[in-house]
Amino acid sequence: MATTQKICVLGSTGSIGVSTLDVVARHPERYAVHALTAHSQVDKLLEQCRVFQPALAIVGTAAAADALHQGLAAAGLTGIQVEFGPDALCRAASATEVDMVMAAIVGAAGLPASLAAARAGKKVLLANKEALVMSGQLFMDAIAESGASLLPIDSEHNAIFQCLPRQYQGNMQQHGVRKIVLTASGGPFLHRAVETLTDVTPEQAVAHPNWVMGRKISVDSATMMNKGLEVIEAHWLFNAPADDIEVVIHPQSVIHSMVSYNDGSVLAQMGNPDMRTPIAYGLAYPERIDSGVAPLDLVQVAKLHFEKADFQRFPCLALAYQALRAGGSAPTVLNAANEIAVQAFLDKKTGFRDIDRIIAKTMDAIEVTACQDLAAILEVDAKARRFAAGLVN
Ligand code: NAD
Ligand code: MG
Repeated sequence: MATTQKICVLGSTGSIGVSTLDVVARHPERYAVHALTAHSQVDKLLEQCRVFQPALAIVGTAAAADALHQGLAAAGLTGIQVEFGPDALCRAASATEVDMVMAAIVGAAGLPASLAAARAGKKVLLANKEALVMSGQLFMDAIAESGASLLPIDSEHNAIFQCLPRQYQGNMQQHGVRKIVLTASGGPFLHRAVETLTDVTPEQAVAHPNWVMGRKISVDSATMMNKGLEVIEAHWLFNAPADDIEVVIHPQSVIHSMVSYNDGSVLAQMGNPDMRTPIAYGLAYPERIDSGVAPLDLVQVAKLHFEKADFQRFPCLALAYQALRAGGSAPTVLNAANEIAVQAFLDKKTGFRDIDRIIAKTMDAIEVTACQDLAAILEVDAKARRFAAGLVN
């Protein structure tokens, strides 16, 4: 077996970060933690530092860094360097000591560090889908140019990656791939009367039937914008045109996605809905390691259901396809408006159905441009955020 690999976990205090450390802890001979990062949860990060003894710990602000420093000193952990801010995240993601980067910061905030890891030629475990949605071509070019390897952690894309041939390089025809089929649970409001969706609360929206996740992605699952972002993510990861990416509702979340081939074969990857499976696959690829996930009991599952995705009920899904087809800056605008609208909904400043209205209006208002470098992407992101925030107020 290979020597110990050093990992930088961006967003270690989040849902994906915690699951990643759970898998890492099962394999101390394989993985060592070089860096952990959190935005504001200093206590949780301190506890992770105690357990994993990284060389570096990063937080969002100087005040949080002071608090972490004191906590580490009190715990006798004086060997851990503390830094703060976005530049520190980029440095950690590209540090020479680091072999692998788990990109698990939520939203656009994760883009610079995720891209830094790609540019530095790391093994990039990508959970931060918003980064790829925003920077698509730039990100994929960075991976190709640096010789980095990109392992999708989003369960659907991890499933597709597992169902494609190992030699797949983005040419669907060459490998007889007819369609990429993304499964979607449909979230908590799959069968709720559409006219009552205006009344749903943040508490109801974040109560996902199958997965325990961060608040932002939970709301995205309720609007199905999560699936929309995943359609765009699949486009970039697998070089699949919008027309060849299909979404099918599958409420049990047992089939994580499928690849449909020209000969009529459909390959599916199944398992219990637990992110430690795709995380373990990404960490050890091409090997398979214990993830702590219980084996799938098909008899207990008993039935798998499938339904057509309803674009009327879930306008965010239609908006994402629209953004993908428009190309250029459109997905960046979609993502920015969604982040603003979701936060406003979580803060009870707008209703649930305002989320898709805010996104649609922002997309209508902001002209599509080419957007070829990080500065241009961040500029469009900022512009779309300002516009969307104006609609909230
Ligand atoms: P989360 O909210 O639980 O955690 C987010 C992490 O990002 C935390 O560690 C937080 O400290 C950090 N963070 C937040 N804002 C930051 C900022 N401005 N600067 C630096 N760090 C910041 O989110 P999550 O559910 O773990 O999701 C993380 C990413 O993984 C998202 O992009 C999400 O779409 C993706 N993802 C999550 C799941 C899941 O099951 N949770 C599944 C697939 C994909
Ligand atoms: Mg997913």
